[in-house]
Amino acid sequence: MTKSKLVLPWTESMTMNGSTNETDSVESLRQRISEMENLLHANRMLCNILDPMELYSTIAGLVRGQLKVSTLCVFVYHHDIEKFESVYSHGLNDLVFTFNKNDGPLWQKILQKEPFPVNDTSGNPIFKEFSENYTLKELNSEWWIPFIMKEEVIGLLTIGEKDNTHPIDEIEYGYIKHIATQASICINACTLNLKRQKERQKLDKILQNLSLLNNIGRAMTYISDLKTLLQYILRKAIRITKAEKGSIMLLDPDKNQLVVSVIEGLEDSDYQEKINNKQVECKSFKPGEGVAGQVFQEAKPIVLNNTEGEDNFIEADSSFVRSIACIPMFVYNDVIGVINVTNKREDHFTEVDVEMLKAVTDQAAVAINKAQLREMAVTDFLTGLYIRRYFMSRLQDELLRSDRYNKVFSIVMIDIDKFKSVNDTYGHTAGDQVLKAAGNFFKTNIRQVDIVARYGGEEFMILFPETDKEAAYVLAERLRKGFPQIRLDILPELSISLGISTYPEDGKDIKTLIKNADIAMYSAKQRGRNKIVNFSKHISPKTRKMSLS
Ligand code: GH3
Ligand code: MG
Ligand code: MG
Repeated sequence: MTKSKLVLPWTESMTMNGSTNETDSVESLRQRISEMENLLHANRMLCNILDPMELYSTIAGLVRGQLKVSTLCVFVYHHDIEKFESVYSHGLNDLVFTFNKNDGPLWQKILQKEPFPVNDTSGNPIFKEFSENYTLKELNSEWWIPFIMKEEVIGLLTIGEKDNTHPIDEIEYGYIKHIATQASICINACTLNLKRQKERQKLDKILQNLSLLNNIGRAMTYISDLKTLLQYILRKAIRITKAEKGSIMLLDPDKNQLVVSVIEGLEDSDYQEKINNKQVECKSFKPGEGVAGQVFQEAKPIVLNNTEGEDNFIEADSSFVRSIACIPMFVYNDVIGVINVTNKREDHFTEVDVEMLKAVTDQAAVAINKAQLREMAVTDFLTGLYIRRYFMSRLQDELLRSDRYNKVFSIVMIDIDKFKSVNDTYGHTAGDQVLKAAGNFFKTNIRQVDIVARYGGEEFMILFPETDKEAAYVLAERLRKGFPQIRLDILPELSISLGISTYPEDGKDIKTLIKNADIAMYSAKQRGRNKIVNFSKHISPKTRKMSLS
């Protein structure tokens, strides 16, 4: 294709008709004024718009109003991907056009900042791209008007045939040139405004996160129970990172394995509760094994935004994991476990997410440490249940609360039947195993609000808050019936005897309540074991005396 020299149609007539006639000059003055008014109007329309879409449509409206063109398209230039993209069009059936920067003549032409016609005077397309690029043919344009700001291309306006089919005249040319200059300034202002808004949003988010962290820190100082604390931390971590679910895994030093302590966000909430109550075990990880094991061993976070095909990713809770951010949890300088958040909603886990998780876990370290020490101090080593002293203090709390709010509660004393014979026949270790299994059985067969403790050697005590005698009997019956489920190797079937006392009818202080639960339990033994007895004043004085011996 031969490129013809572009001659603007009015250039020659201008020089030929340079008249000095007075009427002509008045007319030309009028025309000038009207031209200026138009430009002023355009400026006013454009200068205060900060919404990009509004701006593009206003540019289009101004050009169409003046030139009456059949088609028109506004493009923005994306520097990062070196691409033009149409953002507004008229008469082009909402087609979206994109085309790449091409360092050839087209790009050079655009850089000249001047509006230019697409075809030469003989009607041939000036640029090869037009005959080859199908979508640009569809664009149906006659003139291209580049938007340039500080030597940088920021966009483009293309216009098609005018309704009256007259070629563009000098005034129209001046007008679109002016619009292009003004549009460039306004598009630039819009872009800067958008950028500022985004930065503002980012800052707002940081501020929001900081205040969230501050709240988390304060709330944590009030939570003393380890499980509640871990659940609180996990929920916040999931919320902050906009993940679907997550888990906290702590090192079990006996097994040298990372074990799921709490889990959140599973669709199957019953299954989740079972995991959290330790009724179901999730897969545990050795240090170094899987993502969690590796994070624990290396004490460094890992983020996988696509778990598919990742060798070291192993599922832990049998629910689908698409992406994961796993962070080590420190208490002072020791890694005690990891926190996992999985399946970020809508997006990918970012460095900001990792930083936020780190900040949450750093905040949590001292609270976790305190809760762990406290838990160790109040937990019986063999059964994992609370110790007697702790139970007594919780019981005292419950009594005061019930007194204040006029509520009832019940306690149940439980003793394993003929336990001595287990020790005698199968040995002390077998006896210990039974106690451990019994502890687990009680823990998993009571409600979350109930508190169970190992009260003595093979005696257990449960506090049922806000539970009267009849309701306590139903709960106790569930335990009595279920207890024989505990089967250990060759050991015979086991049973328990239970005694219930209820506040305030069976005692107004904890000492009397415990004594009466004990009497009721002893009465159950006397009635043949594997029974439940509610305390009553009618229990024979002989039984009462024997229970205390
Ligand atoms: P009963 O049906 O009347 O309760 O008969 P019992 O044999 O269970 O009698 P009792 O409740 O008095 O027995 C308590 C036994 O529990 C005595 C003790 O050897 C055993 N025991 C207490 N603590 C432990 C422990 O930590 N480990 C083991 N293996 N046995 C314990
Ligand atoms: Mg006993
Ligand atoms: Mg016993």
